[in-house]
Amino acid sequence: MDDMGREIPADAPWDAPHAEEWDKITMKELIDKICWTKTAKQFASLFVNINVTSEPHEVSALWFLWYVKQCGGTTRIFSITNGGQERKFVGGSGQISERMMTLLGDRVKLRSPVTYIDQSNDNIIVETLNHELYQCRYVISAIPPALIAKIHFKPSLPAERIQLIQRIPMGAIIKCMMYYKEAFWRKKDFCGCMIIEDEEAPISITLDDTKPDGSLPAIMGFILARKADRLAKLHKDARMKKVCELYAKVLGSQEALHPVHYEEKNWCEEQYSGGCYTAYFPPGIMTLYGRVIRQPVGRIYFAGTETATHWSGYMEGAVEAGERAAREVLNALGKVAKKDIWIEEPESKDVPSVEITHTFWERSLPSVPGFLKIIGFSTSVTALGIVLYKFKLLTRS
Ligand SMILES: Cc1cc2nc3c(=O)[nH]c(=O)nc-3n(C[C@H](O)[C@H](O)[C@H](O)COP(=O)(O)OP(=O)(O)OC[C@H]3O[C@@H](n4cnc5c(N)ncnc54)[C@H](O)[C@@H]3O)c2cc1C
Repeated sequence: MDDMGREIPADAPWDAPHAEEWDKITMKELIDKICWTKTAKQFASLFVNINVTSEPHEVSALWFLWYVKQCGGTTRIFSITNGGQERKFVGGSGQISERMMTLLGDRVKLRSPVTYIDQSNDNIIVETLNHELYQCRYVISAIPPALIAKIHFKPSLPAERIQLIQRIPMGAIIKCMMYYKEAFWRKKDFCGCMIIEDEEAPISITLDDTKPDGSLPAIMGFILARKADRLAKLHKDARMKKVCELYAKVLGSQEALHPVHYEEKNWCEEQYSGGCYTAYFPPGIMTLYGRVIRQPVGRIYFAGTETATHWSGYMEGAVEAGERAAREVLNALGKVAKKDIWIEEPESKDVPSVEITHTFWERSLPSVPGFLKIIGFSTSVTALGIVLYKFKLLTRS
């Protein structure tokens, strides 16, 4: 997958040499083609579920390969240490929005969903659900693409964007927080991260979510994709029981059956998110409409994590996209040069990422097709040797 990802441009996956071919197939078809054992197929499917909260049969292979590539590859996206899941915010990531709101004051309007944008005059008119009107020169839309369909535009959006926003749905997830009296798993020297491949298991991945000072011991778990839909139909208590029973089985501890508190969030029922973590591209959409995702429409610019080129689907991508869209507007205002719209994010000084390395065996062991090629080649060479040897004997006699 990483080899395939290398040929996909992070900022233009539709231009990859095999874009058309890979966009026509789903990840399920690709997994069936490149994985040779049942275990590998199951793990690859789980890898899709965990990374993009959707099913392998739902997503385009091109889109998924691009997604993993723009997160630094299979190891980076999936790892905790030196990977996508490494860092947390002391006090929670919600503080980013809260502290920005402190800086911006009453310019931030909460509970005011935009329902109408009219850019047919010099000033753009933005109307909210509660019929407040705002005037501005430019608009940056930073909402998930599918939710743009809830807004009325004058003039109408271009046909390609209307098609795009109807065709990239959000993934499905229920986030479950199980709080315990103590972090009992640590007594067994377990880190609290479980990756669970079992059709009957509600949760597919967990992380220890105990606070850095050791308070509020908790296990955070994700109910993903098909399972989110299936389990949403149960009562909250029944879901909690199933999750506890699973943890007890995996951790081999009855203490898992006795949480002190449970919180959960079904992101699929959030009408202003539509699901999470991000939008996914079904087959065929990336090559047909993908290139319009960041294209401005008149004086409306598009941000949001889906429009990012690095860690799209994550908070990091949302920040990249927001800054890029802001610079696009500054460019339109003549305050930033075109060449300065795209700026590479500087490496983190506190926790710089370390290059991913592979062991000798990881680098050198052949894949199953590679192994079969070696066997095929050596068998052919041996057969040829035998034929030549026999032929030589014959010609001698
Ligand atoms: C369970 C879960 C776990 C996740 N874990 C991680 C993680 O560990 N690390 C990570 O980096 N990312 C994670 N993510 C993904 C991360 O939350 C998103 O990538 C990020 O929030 C995207 O930011 P955004 O600004 O593009 O969109 P959003 O955060 O979705 O913000 C869009 C905003 O637009 C508002 N809105 C919608 N419609 C309208 C409208 N019509 N008018 C006005 N406002 C509107 C919404 O209310 C929302 O506030 C997770 C997501 C979920 C759901």
